[in-house]
Amino acid sequence: MNLKYYFDYNSTTPTDPRVAKEIIPYFSTKFFNPSSFYRKAGEISIDIENARERVAKLLNAEVNEIFFTSSGTESDNLAILGITSKLKEKGNHIITSKIEHPAVLNTCKYLSKKGFEVTYLPVDKYGLLDPDDLKKEIKDTTILVTIMHANNEIGTIQPVKELSKIAHQRGILFHTDAVQSAGKMKVDVKELDIDMLSISSHKIYGPKGMGVLFKKKKVKINPMIFGGAHEKGLRAGTENVPGIIGIGKAAELAILEMHENEKRLKPIRDKIEKGIIETIPDVIINGNTDKRLYNTLNVSIKYIEGESILAFLDNQGFALSSGSACSSKSLEPSHVLLALGLKHEEAHGSLRISLGKYNKKEDADKLIEVLPSIVERLRSMSPFWKNK
Ligand SMILES: *Cc1c(COP(=O)(O)O)cnc(C)c1O
Repeated sequence: MNLKYYFDYNSTTPTDPRVAKEIIPYFSTKFFNPSSFYRKAGEISIDIENARERVAKLLNAEVNEIFFTSSGTESDNLAILGITSKLKEKGNHIITSKIEHPAVLNTCKYLSKKGFEVTYLPVDKYGLLDPDDLKKEIKDTTILVTIMHANNEIGTIQPVKELSKIAHQRGILFHTDAVQSAGKMKVDVKELDIDMLSISSHKIYGPKGMGVLFKKKKVKINPMIFGGAHEKGLRAGTENVPGIIGIGKAAELAILEMHENEKRLKPIRDKIEKGIIETIPDVIINGNTDKRLYNTLNVSIKYIEGESILAFLDNQGFALSSGSACSSKSLEPSHVLLALGLKHEEAHGSLRISLGKYNKKEDADKLIEVLPSIVERLRSMSPFWKNK
């Protein structure tokens, strides 16, 4: 059975055909190294700056505050390692949350082995941080607060404006991983008053292997990759021109279409949620249903394994995730769901349904048509269900 129903947009998105079309010349007639001297190469530099402008517009940033990297992961690493390396004489304390993406969590874990102290803020059972907890944990040695904007597994949206304000009142820099929010909802770095922010191309219908770090001009950080003077000396390496053109076009389309995507996709997501609640007993909706990405639905289906449901769904042409794509291969329960206070077995029975702009209403109808019978069949074989 071919893959017919894709519900895994938080893992990755297909490149929009309009983006792909715009990239293609940069593999052939426009292959030049933008650093070269001749005119044709200079034109590539101009195209790169136009892409930078499009990304800046998506974030309401200044053009010279946009730095191209290889991924959302690299942007998170550059922000956290770059600032801690720069400010290590000033302090050694970082504050983050328990539900960050591994790109942030494992960077912090690495730093804690290098003499930094890391505080992981808890979240409530809906995945929301309490700003008062941040206030309490700030100390004289705190040099960075890094809290994600929207969570990739449960979609919960954090009050980053309030959190960055608290950090700034104590003179501390604020970074946010906005990989899941940018391109889906308005992310305005001026309004939110953010110092550094990460985004990723392949989560917004651009090509893979392309990211952006927004960094305010007055914030100084150390580079992590050394070489030529690319990206104003912050990130060496000949530019990934097709990737840059791609994220630029993807940003432009996101500005034009995100509102429309929200209007169309939210009712479809809500319909799936309602369908699951009405047809399957003993489920838990994970995440904050008020402050949540409109495309994301995370549900624990008790007494069975998420992976078994995924396998059955895969056979019927559905692609979705259990917990996070990164942790689902390890079969460890998701750190995000455990942070909400879910029991191990509840976290194991979780499904993440994440929608995107190519989903149709009929996809949702099909999912809520097949899911209940799969669950019933798996539960009929489950000793936990029989003994509940
Ligand atoms: C996907 C994702 C990343 C990593 O981005 P890549 O470009 O795949 O490295 C980081 N943070 C969040 C929240 C993500 O969803």
